[in-house]
Amino acid sequence: MSERAAPFYCPYCGDEDLRPSEQGHGAWECAACNRAFQLKFLGLLARGIQRPRRAAAGGNEI
Ligand SMILES: [Zn+2]
Repeated sequence: MSERAAPFYCPYCGDEDLRPSEQGHGAWECAACNRAFQLKFLGLLARGIQRPRRAAAGGNEI
């Protein structure tokens, strides 16, 4: 999943002018703010996939 994890926007300035960095997999450079950052997949969340409990709460929410 290394090549497909491409960001669409710079997380720092929001610009779209991103290009792969030479510093390694998942590394990107923003041409707008001149920052380099790295994306890393940490794993799936332990809680799994859950639906909002609104329906099961019986209307007892704030
Ligand atoms: Zn940027």
